[in-house]
Amino acid sequence: MIVSGNQKVVRSVNRAAILNLIRENQPVSRIHLSKLSKLNKSTVSSIVSDLLEEKLISETMIGQSTGGRKPILLSLNRAEYRIGAIDFDPDCTYVAIGDIEARVIRRKKIKTESGRPLAFIKKCLNELLEMKKELNCANLKSIGMSIPGIVDTRNGLIVIAPDLRWKNLDIRKIVHEVDPNGIDGRVLIENEANSSALAEQWFGQDMVKNKSNIVFISEGIGTGIILNKELIQGSFDAAGQFGHMTIDPDGELCICGNRGCWEVYTSKDSTARRFGGRSFNGSTNGELGKITALAKNGDKLAIKTLVETGRYLGIGISNIIKAIDPEVIILGGAITQAWDVIYPEIAKEIEARVFVDIKKKDIPIIPTSLVERSSLIGAFALVIREIFRGYRITRG
Ligand SMILES: [Zn+2]
Repeated sequence: MIVSGNQKVVRSVNRAAILNLIRENQPVSRIHLSKLSKLNKSTVSSIVSDLLEEKLISETMIGQSTGGRKPILLSLNRAEYRIGAIDFDPDCTYVAIGDIEARVIRRKKIKTESGRPLAFIKKCLNELLEMKKELNCANLKSIGMSIPGIVDTRNGLIVIAPDLRWKNLDIRKIVHEVDPNGIDGRVLIENEANSSALAEQWFGQDMVKNKSNIVFISEGIGTGIILNKELIQGSFDAAGQFGHMTIDPDGELCICGNRGCWEVYTSKDSTARRFGGRSFNGSTNGELGKITALAKNGDKLAIKTLVETGRYLGIGISNIIKAIDPEVIILGGAITQAWDVIYPEIAKEIEARVFVDIKKKDIPIIPTSLVERSSLIGAFALVIREIFRGYRITRG
């Protein structure tokens, strides 16, 4: 049978509709799917058999009989469908395999070797392939990656990742070199704050999932912006660089080469540096946790440091509110452990700086509710979003 381009699009749209209905109503019968989608039973059956073949869904328990034959119910295939994720971070990189609902099945933390990008990325991919073999998941065909920097999402390139000192890396080419016949082609990369925003939109608490306009602030500092339910990427994939907005033109030097960027005052590294003094030069990994613990025990310098970070966070968030007018702002990373200290400072700055009419809307500013790293869940979410959107439209 020859299928025209239009028929392909219609089928792809119907397929995405059925898959989303299964996700929202699982476990659900084919008959019920037909009622919900208003598609005829044979169309539903044909789409369902494709989804079963792709291992995206599975036939689960037998449903309630209403007389006659008992219907078979359909659910997402948590047991078999697998997705790979790599979450690059200047300190440690996380390699993981998860299911279709972004639940982590296995995860490995690897010390980041940012000085040798090619070899390190290949090392992470080999770890993932090893994990794939150990877990015996033949169905792992897609990988999502979170990168702390500017990426060309369409072509799978890292344009620049200042904290890693990485530039111009063709991720898809590297994946092809490591695994020419496996995960090739389905590699999705995204800035870590953007992927974290997606993680909140797909897998965060209900009050976040229902919102259309979401801002996520990562500890680096990066910002991921979702407006009208869509991630904002900008004309050159570089939207949301609030971490580098100037707070003080004569301030401290930032890694980007400018002075007084917001992240110079608010990132986990800068908080650790302020606490340890200007001489502090080592790795700041875990340092924020120590400062928070000290603050909880009443250490005056630790409290002062966190109060300052909270104040600067509040100044920047006030600017974001004025620019974006979001419905909710979510903070991720280790700083959320010090919420009791930083939140009152953030609230104070917003109270003082944001226009009265916006303030009245009472924009919730909350710590992430995700137990796992938002950027790791976000790497899964990149792939999951494609699947539920119906990637066949764009991938031919
Ligand atoms: Zn900067």
